[in-house]
Amino acid sequence: MALPLTRSKALQRRAETLLPGGVDSPVRAFRAVGGDPPFLVSAKGAYLSDADGNRYIDLFGSWGPMLLGHAFPPAVEAIREAAGHSASFGASTAAEADLAELVQLCFPSIQKLRFVSSGTEACMSAIRLARGFTGRPFVIKFEGCYHGHADALLVKAGSGVATFGIPGSAGVPNETVMHTLALPYNDLSAVEAAFAAHPELVACVILEPVVGNAGTIAPLPGYLKGLREITRKHGALLIFDEVMTGFRLAPGGAQELFADELGGAPDLTTLGKIIGGGLPVGAFGGRAEIMDYLAPLGPVYQAGTLSGNPLAMAAGIATLRSLLEQRETIYTRLEATTAAIVEGIARLAVERGIALTTNRVGSMFTCFFTPSAVTDFTTASHSDTAAFARFHRAMLERGVWLPPSQFEAAFVSTEHGPAEVDAILAAAAEALHEVQK
Ligand code: PMP
Repeated sequence: MALPLTRSKALQRRAETLLPGGVDSPVRAFRAVGGDPPFLVSAKGAYLSDADGNRYIDLFGSWGPMLLGHAFPPAVEAIREAAGHSASFGASTAAEADLAELVQLCFPSIQKLRFVSSGTEACMSAIRLARGFTGRPFVIKFEGCYHGHADALLVKAGSGVATFGIPGSAGVPNETVMHTLALPYNDLSAVEAAFAAHPELVACVILEPVVGNAGTIAPLPGYLKGLREITRKHGALLIFDEVMTGFRLAPGGAQELFADELGGAPDLTTLGKIIGGGLPVGAFGGRAEIMDYLAPLGPVYQAGTLSGNPLAMAAGIATLRSLLEQRETIYTRLEATTAAIVEGIARLAVERGIALTTNRVGSMFTCFFTPSAVTDFTTASHSDTAAFARFHRAMLERGVWLPPSQFEAAFVSTEHGPAEVDAILAAAAEALHEVQK
């Protein structure tokens, strides 16, 4: 079964002459799963349409932002209206505080925040702020977690770095990463040991509270609480990177979902993806006394020509308003839809005798082609990536677009319903058969 991709292939060949790998972000090139990537022309709700007229059920949601589905009417309308008033001022607008208020309503731990244009900028700036505030140099991160492509954070990172099996990146001098400690996720003793080895030198611990960038991995019971206790004991800041999980797992992200067992909020939180409703927005925020260390009030410099961009703010406001209006229903619906997809795929795998571990938290999930539990990057990397690649292609050929790497989370939107669940499971039944061949 081959997809008709004549036009996409031609577009890819042209793009390759102009853009490295034909892409602006590596995983889009489909190198890990093989074959040419379809070129998209439009999307609506849960469906993507490519340049050859093929239609796909979208299970990657632009890597997370499209929680309410593509071309969400209130966001489209808000962007149109804002564009009529000018795409950029480079000066303050009321919309920035409007969106900040909505974020604060969802994340009570964020007393003040600053908008940036990507998740990378949010995490890079949060790290600088943590170092500036504490006056300490070391940063603890975790293997398989991805916090964007800032130099200091490209150590044993997830997402494309994990997909391509590279330990870090060329072009990052050792001096730049010598203060980055990359530890195994879900292992508190490793964190204790790192603090003991570097007394009063660790500025912060940054993590994905639910990992998406090594595939989906949940924190083990007590892990988040343990990190909160250790960081507090040692005077280091705890930073939750909720670029993926913010507004997705709950309006207040993982810190709301796990509030009962967290034992205190993180000091700083980074956000991206959903906060901009599909436009380029990130944010970092937290305790006011820390945030006030930023220029112009404090000594930590951070800036951006397009930060707080009016189109991006408008899309974010429309998205968060709708999300809050429907908060009583959308998370139960997302949970039920995603559970039906994941439990269905797991059942099909058992019927076919395929070793598959399915991890799911809310509307994020990953099917790992391994028989063993996946709790960190090492266990994730035991997956049979060739089997995943066959599964991915077979699903795509049957009209279901999964993220093109074993080490990425799939995302479900509120626009996915019973009809999409049935279609996904019908495709999976055949695709798992292909995996066995
Ligand atoms: N943090 C996390 C948890 C992410 O998933 C990502 C992107 N996938 C980033 C940071 C970086 O965000 P961006 O791609 O917008 O720079």
